[in-house]
Amino acid sequence: MTERMRRHRRTKIIATLGPASSTPEMILQLFQAGADVFRLNFSHGAHADHAARIEMIRAVERKTGRPIGILADVQGPKLRVGTFQSGRVQLQAGQTFTLDMNPAPGDTRRVCLPHPEIMATAEIGMTLLLDDGKLRLRVLRKREDQLLTEILNGGMLSDHKGVNIPDVVLPIPALTEKDRADLAFVLPLGIDYIGLSFVQRPEDVAEAKALAAGRAAVMAKLEKPQALDNLDAILALADAVMVARGDLGVELPPEEVPIAQKRIIRAAQQRGKPVVVATQMLESMISAPAPTRAEASDVATAVFDGADAVMLSAESAAGQYPREAVNMMDRIITRVERDEDWRREIDAKRPAPEKSSPDAIAAAAVQVAHTIGAKAIAALTESGATALRVAREKPDCPVLGLTANIGVARRLAAVWGVHAVQAEIVHSMTQAIDNAKKIAQIEGFAVKGEEIVVVAGVPFGQMGTTNTLRVTRL
Ligand code: PGA
Ligand code: MN
Repeated sequence: MTERMRRHRRTKIIATLGPASSTPEMILQLFQAGADVFRLNFSHGAHADHAARIEMIRAVERKTGRPIGILADVQGPKLRVGTFQSGRVQLQAGQTFTLDMNPAPGDTRRVCLPHPEIMATAEIGMTLLLDDGKLRLRVLRKREDQLLTEILNGGMLSDHKGVNIPDVVLPIPALTEKDRADLAFVLPLGIDYIGLSFVQRPEDVAEAKALAAGRAAVMAKLEKPQALDNLDAILALADAVMVARGDLGVELPPEEVPIAQKRIIRAAQQRGKPVVVATQMLESMISAPAPTRAEASDVATAVFDGADAVMLSAESAAGQYPREAVNMMDRIITRVERDEDWRREIDAKRPAPEKSSPDAIAAAAVQVAHTIGAKAIAALTESGATALRVAREKPDCPVLGLTANIGVARRLAAVWGVHAVQAEIVHSMTQAIDNAKKIAQIEGFAVKGEEIVVVAGVPFGQMGTTNTLRVTRL
């Protein structure tokens, strides 16, 4: 028999898997500690490692009877310098340094930057950030396949360090050859979200969606200032977004990151698209069993802002305390969500329903559930859209996302307040209500005598027809 379980919080947790968390036991423990979605980071690890993790996650699903989301995060066009004769060099501020297309190992005067697009679009005065912004170069002169720069901030530079160029929209697509190969490998294995790195324009999202062809949703990682300029157009196309604060914080000054985070969350909520806050949330837990006060506060802020999910990167992938990190997030979220101020903030930020029947029904369902003290709102959802519209209203009771489509149930694992269940296909409202009551009881949301609200689209089997609201007593 499968052991039913429900979470007692709305905000979800995404945990990255890596060398520290790739045994069946550990993945089960991370799920039990609170991970709702697992992230596979294609910047690291071989295909076989990721395939094994997917198999282990699906085994946890079978064991627990709970749909679990898998986010396959592809590397994207992460720009990197080549290598150095001695592995690394010390660059002095005030000196000049040349970036060129010559693959020969570099020294203190030059190194290879094997990206013709950068050579082509570089402008005099443009800044290049190396190794997460630790070093800064300014372009002084431009020749064919060569950039002469002045070193503004010096430091140690070693082989293959990353390069960020915040000033210009680079004429490079978000999907590289490596990303395409990674997706060709992983999509048939059954993933739920593609994490699309370094999105700059809506066209990047469109390309990934075309490639996914419905097999996975696309989560656009917002980590370029250009993406913020195109935020609305990107949100219109993406299925979800991530505030990817690591690279965003390299390309923007630190004081801009919290503002960008709030702005992105607000815009995503307006659209009803899931939004994830990521990177360095419990960073010190990579090597310590407890977080700093500032980190606890950072997680809490994302919860107060109404983010759908908070994410762990190296903390769960490569740290010494993966379980403790997930458990700590669970504790912080649970505590915040018990606070009256949290509910007040969430209510104050609720966007007005859009002028559509699904939104009118969703808003009404939340209102009705609140008034009668319903134990849950069951959203019958084929594409996930109905559950998303109800979740957008941030009801004070849980949302049961009932869908016949396991892929949709898994995607809803990342969504605020939604407990997704794969349910049988129904053909009538009577059947739908019976089913919702049965599931609410089995999953531990309501007992005999309690009420739930059911929203659905009638006739069944047509998408985008949410038009019915019923109150029913178990
Ligand atoms: P990454 O993305 O960890 O793949 O770089 C997240 C970020 O940049 O914050
Ligand atoms: Mn990144």
